[in-house]
Amino acid sequence: MNPCTFSISRLREMFIKHELSPVEIVTDTLDFIYKKNPSINAFLHINQQCIDEAKKSEERYLKGKAGKLLDGIPIAIKDNICTVDQPTTCASKILKGYMSPYDASVVRKLKQEGAIFTGKTNMDEFAFGSSTENSAFGPTLNPHNLERVPGGSSGGSAAAVASFMVPGALGSDTGGSIRQPASFCGVIGLKPTYGRVSRYGLVAFGSSLDQIGPFASNIRDVCIILNAISGYDEQDSTSCDIEVPDYEKSLDIPLKKKEISVGIPEEYFEEGLCSEIKEKINKLLDNLSNDGFCIKKINLPHTHYGIATYYILATAEASTNLARFDGIRFGYRSNNSKTIFDLYTNTRGEGFGKEVKRRIILGTFVLSSGYYEAYYLKAQKVRTLIMKDFADAFQSVDFIITPTTPETAFKLGEKSTDLLKMYLSDIFTVNANLAGIPGINLPIGLSSDKLPIGVQILAPAFKEENLLRFAYYIEQNLTRE
Ligand code: GLN
Repeated sequence: MNPCTFSISRLREMFIKHELSPVEIVTDTLDFIYKKNPSINAFLHINQQCIDEAKKSEERYLKGKAGKLLDGIPIAIKDNICTVDQPTTCASKILKGYMSPYDASVVRKLKQEGAIFTGKTNMDEFAFGSSTENSAFGPTLNPHNLERVPGGSSGGSAAAVASFMVPGALGSDTGGSIRQPASFCGVIGLKPTYGRVSRYGLVAFGSSLDQIGPFASNIRDVCIILNAISGYDEQDSTSCDIEVPDYEKSLDIPLKKKEISVGIPEEYFEEGLCSEIKEKINKLLDNLSNDGFCIKKINLPHTHYGIATYYILATAEASTNLARFDGIRFGYRSNNSKTIFDLYTNTRGEGFGKEVKRRIILGTFVLSSGYYEAYYLKAQKVRTLIMKDFADAFQSVDFIITPTTPETAFKLGEKSTDLLKMYLSDIFTVNANLAGIPGINLPIGLSSDKLPIGVQILAPAFKEENLLRFAYYIEQNLTRE
């Protein structure tokens, strides 16, 4: 039996009672990953050395000294998060074999809590995509149906949790890359508030939008990982010095249902939303209302500008962030160049994939003189309006419920030739990144063709505690079919 069908909290309990040991679970987990990965391609690198860490963890349990949050728990890390003892490639040829000289702050924190890193997960190259088809090392497949994509860009992490290769994983979310693959794979994925979790050591895509967050199969496990990775970090000037509550403990505080109101934004339920998703969400809303929650219709009037605004700002930031990959400092270097200029262009031309080049060109264009005011500056202004929409809405509601995605997992190759369609996969997720607020995907059932359906819940900035308690209520009471 695969040990990762157990939750993180259950594994911890079994370790403490000596019913199972970290070495046993890590050995079985690696065996399972080796067996399963060839068909799913969730991992780009499997970390055989993690057995040594499992042995150390086991000793701590034997000595009764294991009080840490994730002691002995296998965790997978998206391959754009730096790790000293495993490669960090961002699923790009340009970083093939690259070893970071330092750990990302989240990795350092997880290590301190005793987590065992089983490997690095597949993704869209530099996190540009919604399907994990843009990886230079082949796509990840959806464990629910191998003809379907797992979503992206953190498709490897989502698929690893969904196929029980690990009980928890980290991803990054710039415009939906945790929530959208979580929805396609039927797991939970949380994008925290911008500034809640340090971005130090996350290879930057859109620095004003990126956040690292957890994947797991239940809310309690998400809380445990979030407890471990949250908090101020002096190495990330945008991380916030705001107290971190104990998210796991707060799950035990009962909700005052009658005092909670939930906003349903009309703009998220228009034409284009798959009818089965709509039905499932409506059923959930009926149940919430029957349980005493107040469900209110609201408006977020600038919603429709989200995708355009996001693709201007995200590509602008990406084009500057990716300037550092020049063949001099990191990874791949083209070896047929006569001049330094040739070296740059050949390295970037050979090392970057198609989508990366497209985004660098688009981002450079919107930042170039003459177009800056028309595109970049205008997009910044619209971003402020989108933020204001949420601020206004949260005056009268505690949470906002929307679909996570307009449809369930699509077929491999289905959208690769129609980019606009691909970009529209994030229509419901990008606005939370533009506004900096937290959002979670919660699975709420399967479609008639047995593909997962997810709901997105949004909350005001730094209200993860409430968001998780509310999601926990739904998970415990309202998601059973
Ligand atoms: N799919 C979106 C994009 O391609 C979001 C990616 C992300 O969140 N990293 O930009």
